[in-house]
Amino acid sequence: MICPTESKMFHVEHFLRKVSTAHKEYVIITFQKENSLLDKGAEESRDKKKKGKNMAKIIAIANQKGGVGKTTTTINVGAALGELGERVLLIDIDPQGNTTSGLGVEKETLLHTAYELLLEDETVKDCALELKDFHLSLVPSSLDLAGAEVELVGNSDREALLYRKLSEAKDDYDYILIDCPPSLNVLTINAFRAADSILVPIQCEFYAMEGLTQLINTINLVRQRLNPNIQIEGIVFTMYDSRLNLSDQVVEEVTRFMPGKVYKTKIPRNVRLAEAPSYGMPVTQYDPASKGAAAYLSLAEEILERGGKA
Ligand code: ADP
Ligand code: MG
Repeated sequence: MICPTESKMFHVEHFLRKVSTAHKEYVIITFQKENSLLDKGAEESRDKKKKGKNMAKIIAIANQKGGVGKTTTTINVGAALGELGERVLLIDIDPQGNTTSGLGVEKETLLHTAYELLLEDETVKDCALELKDFHLSLVPSSLDLAGAEVELVGNSDREALLYRKLSEAKDDYDYILIDCPPSLNVLTINAFRAADSILVPIQCEFYAMEGLTQLINTINLVRQRLNPNIQIEGIVFTMYDSRLNLSDQVVEEVTRFMPGKVYKTKIPRNVRLAEAPSYGMPVTQYDPASKGAAAYLSLAEEILERGGKA
């Protein structure tokens, strides 16, 4: 359990440990059976929002490059926002389904997935699994999504399928995060049509700017043709290594190209982040004291601070 240190609403049952993010210091309370970051304040805030009916902000996590940290960011920003009391829905539209398996959900057994959400009559309510331990809901992926491109040929509404389904679910969540596949296919276009904004994870490597320029061109096209209101939510550097000159050069160049969009929080290369999915957990549960957990909590706080819900 993590509580802001100023909160007085926790009971110490096992032991206390402090974790600092860029913005706050937290006390982690580890219980004998439970290792959760949820505090009472978060529960209260969630209950209040359920009654208050805020509209969700929909964020697509996208970069056409594979292996840059989209899935890791979706899972861990989602879990951190959940820990901080937001009502969070994750949608896994990547046929590889790494967000789904990374949260311990077995894809083989599922009847209602993102495939049924997009291509059949099922609603978000029909498809969302409640992962209470992680303070998250998830619409899981299905391998069938790989055929969506072909199945949707000739469907004149094919770019707005997700938009229509999410419009009905906006009252039930504060944040809906969509984990996109590593390509600009019909699934990613559905995410861009449905989203208020796009969060771009970037790895600090030589080709980062090239990839970002391509993505910005695509987003400009989406803005002209499909979704005039779409914004860049922010750019987050992943697998960041402050010891490498290249990392700082890339950060500098991207910051100059996209002023005001780069998050202060950089996600370090952290082995706990790579291990957590094989245990089916977000890092905030797998190792709440790790640098990876602190970084994603700090990123979630920045996202909340920038706010601007649609
Ligand atoms: P994408 O969804 O963009 O393909 P992933 O989130 O799956 O990228 O990340 C690619 C690989 O890198 C995965 O094995 C993941 O566990 C690992 N990884 C991602 N972010 C980090 C990090 N900050 N530190 C260490 N490993 C990471
Ligand atoms: Mg992925």
